[in-house]
Amino acid sequence: MTNQDREQIRIRIVSEINRTRQDVEQLKEVTRPVVFEDMDDITHMDSIVNKSVNDAALASAKSRLAALEYALKRLDDPEFGICSECGESIPLPRLLSMPQSSRCVDCAE
Ligand SMILES: [Zn+2]
Repeated sequence: MTNQDREQIRIRIVSEINRTRQDVEQLKEVTRPVVFEDMDDITHMDSIVNKSVNDAALASAKSRLAALEYALKRLDDPEFGICSECGESIPLPRLLSMPQSSRCVDCAE
């Protein structure tokens, strides 16, 4: 991997981190405890369903954020971009689309 590739990936990771942070903040807003008193039963059910969907989305956004931050830390590591299973280089397009991946497409499947 060239330094240029690394820089390209760094920019990509940083922008993904910023975007995911915004997602986390928005989801935190919508997953606040809901006050049920003034709702009818249907609204009540809706908000419970929405909340569980949003809770799941928040959990996945948080783990994505942690994975991206970890990838950013590992970026200068000589091991970065090497598949942790087969030891082959992970192709740049994959690293750009999923910088947090530590395995090549074949091994991830
Ligand atoms: Zn592999």
